[in-house]
Amino acid sequence: MKIVVLDGYTLNPGDLTWGRLEKIGELTVYDRTPANQIIERIGDAEIIFTNKTPLTRDTFDQVPKVKFVGVLATGYNVVDGEAAKEKGIVVTNIPTYGTSAVAQFTFALLLEMCHHVWDHSQEVKKGAWTNCQDFCFWNYPLIELAGKTMGIIGFGRIGQATAKIAQALGMKVLAYDNYQDSKLVSDSLKYAGLDELLANSDVISLHCPLIDNTVGIINQNTIAKMKDGVKIINTSRGPLIVEKDLAEALNSGKVSGAAVDVVSTEPAKMDNPLLSAKNCIVTPHIAWAPKESRERLMNIAVVNLEQFLKGDLVNVVNK
Ligand code: NAD
Repeated sequence: MKIVVLDGYTLNPGDLTWGRLEKIGELTVYDRTPANQIIERIGDAEIIFTNKTPLTRDTFDQVPKVKFVGVLATGYNVVDGEAAKEKGIVVTNIPTYGTSAVAQFTFALLLEMCHHVWDHSQEVKKGAWTNCQDFCFWNYPLIELAGKTMGIIGFGRIGQATAKIAQALGMKVLAYDNYQDSKLVSDSLKYAGLDELLANSDVISLHCPLIDNTVGIINQNTIAKMKDGVKIINTSRGPLIVEKDLAEALNSGKVSGAAVDVVSTEPAKMDNPLLSAKNCIVTPHIAWAPKESRERLMNIAVVNLEQFLKGDLVNVVNK
């Protein structure tokens, strides 16, 4: 049985092992696959793994041996699941592997906005402290989070994990989600409508999926409803934000800081307005990527295939 991984590099740049897949079949791993080589590389393989390499109806028409597609991510929009289903191809995903990592990263971004740790350290190494008249200096307003309010849009796994950290730091949480779990409500956490969340949050963090009604959820109109000086964090998906509108709000000071791990087009284009906006941190889609999370992802991907081969399907997304 031939197994092809079309774009394995980001999951395993060399610090994990493909060994378990090698034991299952004849494995070929490509770091990345250009669009014009997808069909040739799949060839007569039955098992395909993809992370971000698209598998379209047209591709499925030309690779008749494929029986199983394992998406090496939570989001599976890169695969035409309907076309796969019509051909009897099972598509699986990894529903959860990086909840803690993404929640932790959300706070790496927020704490950086509150303290500018790296910048202060760089200033010290350049001599700014040595030459300072006082025992300390700071280049930015420093912010204490206790008592402030974090609005979390999308209160699923990552949103809830983020809320726990916020609460541990003494923050209040406003959660906005279509589904509400009353057991999660406490003195420091309540559900709110979107407008209430926008109007009352000091920090707004996005953790909803990218679907039709969340595209552009942060835009000129919603930003206008926010507190002056609000901070915005996006570790979910780039198109949740109308980037031009956020850039304008950052440049005007309406939004005092933003930190995004995801942008509308990835890799980011150099003319993305967030790259040149004031007080904006941009990281290259790394929230998911600690080794521990990738290891978990790899294990679940292998289990998805093992279960498929046993005829006991798990994590199927195109039933
Ligand atoms: P989840 O499915 O557990 O939670 C998403 C929540 O959003 C659900 O509770 C859902 O009800 C809610 N939701 C759906 N539509 C909504 C809407 N219109 N308004 C408000 N809430 C809505 O997913 P998760 O595991 O918490 O992941 C959240 C997102 O994080 C994913 O969709 C993905 O885009 C992103 N993510 C990013 C990285 C990264 O590396 N940056 C890694 C993993 C996940």
